Amino acid sequence: MTIRFDGQVAIVTGAGHGLGRSYALALGARGAKVVVNDLGGAIDGSGGSKTPADEVVDEIRAAGGEAVANYDSVAERDSAANIVQSAVDAFGGVDIVINNAGIVRDKTFHKMSLDDYEFVVKVHFLGSIYVTHAAYPIMRDANYGRILMVSSNSGLYGNFGQTNYSAAKMAVVGFVNTLKLEGARNNITANALAPLAATRIAEPSGIFETYDRELVTTDAVAAMVTYLVSEDCTDSGNVIAATAGYYSKIQVMEGQGVQVDPREEMTPERIAELWPRIVSMDEPRAFNDAVENLTTVMAKE
Ligand code: NAD
Repeated sequence: MTIRFDGQVAIVTGAGHGLGRSYALALGARGAKVVVNDLGGAIDGSGGSKTPADEVVDEIRAAGGEAVANYDSVAERDSAANIVQSAVDAFGGVDIVINNAGIVRDKTFHKMSLDDYEFVVKVHFLGSIYVTHAAYPIMRDANYGRILMVSSNSGLYGNFGQTNYSAAKMAVVGFVNTLKLEGARNNITANALAPLAATRIAEPSGIFETYDRELVTTDAVAAMVTYLVSEDCTDSGNVIAATAGYYSKIQVMEGQGVQVDPREEMTPERIAELWPRIVSMDEPRAFNDAVENLTTVMAKE
C-alpha cells in the first residue's frame, strides 16, 4: 500500500518551521497540493516574516510538488478564513486541514497576564476552530474531509507553567470528541495529535536534556500525521501520541465507580467512606459519546 494525495488539497497552518514544515513537505512529496500557512513570528507569536512559508513552498516545488504560501494569522476570524480562501483560489477546494500553528507564553498562573492567557488560547484553540469552520462547508459539500487538531501532553496531563497552553490543547480534544460524531455522515474525520519533536517551541521545556534531539525528529511525527489525514485512515475521534520510536492512542477513561441506592441519603461522611472505591481506576471504561456514557452508568443497579 502506498499512501498518496494526488488531486487532494491540504492546508497546514504554522508550516514555516518545525513540525508543520515536515507535514507540508511530506504531503507535497506524496502528491498533495499544499497551502503552506505561516505568519513567520517568534515562538511567543510576536513579529512576522514571509520567509519561512516561502522557503517551504520553494522546497516542495523543488521536489516536484505543488504549493502556495499564505501568511495570515490563524488567530483572527477573517485572516483564518483567508487561509481557506487561498486554498480555494489556488487549488479549487480543501480536503485536509492540519491545525498546527502554535506559540508559547509560559509563566506560572499567578504571574500570567490575561493577555498572555487569551492570546495562547486564540492561536491554539480558536485559531484551529476559525480555520476549520471556514473549511468545513467545503468538506461537507465534497462529502470528504480530514481534520487534524494538534493537542499536547501538556494539556492531556498538565505541565508546570503552561496553564494557558494546557487548557487550549485540551480544548481541541473536546472539539474532536464531538466533531467525530457530526462529521461521520459526510466522511469527515477529526483526530487529535500529541506530538513530541525537537523544535524551537519544545526547546524551553528542557526535555532534550533527557532525550537526544537528533533522534526526536519531526519526520517521525510527520509519518503519523500523513497516515492520519489520508483516505486510508477512516478512524475518527482519536487522540494519538507520536514521537520518534513511540506511537499510541490516548483516551479518557472512567472508573467503575460506586453505585448505591439513589434513595439512600448521601452525606459527606458516606462519600469519605466510599472515596477509595470512587477513585479506583481498576477496570476502567471508555465511551464513544456522552449518551453511551450516561446510559451505561445510570443503568447500573
Ligand atoms: P514551531 O515554533 O517550530 O512552529 C510553529 C509555527 O507556527 C511557527 O512557524 C510559527 O510562525 C507558526 N505560527 C505561530 N502563530 C501563528 C499564527 N497565529 N498563524 C499562523 N502561524 C503561526 O513549533 P512546533 O514545535 O513545530 O509546533 C507545532 C505544533 O505542535 C504547535 O501547535 C505546538 O504547540 C505543537 N506541539 C509541539 C510539540 C513539540 O514537541 N515540538 C509538542 C506538543 C505539541
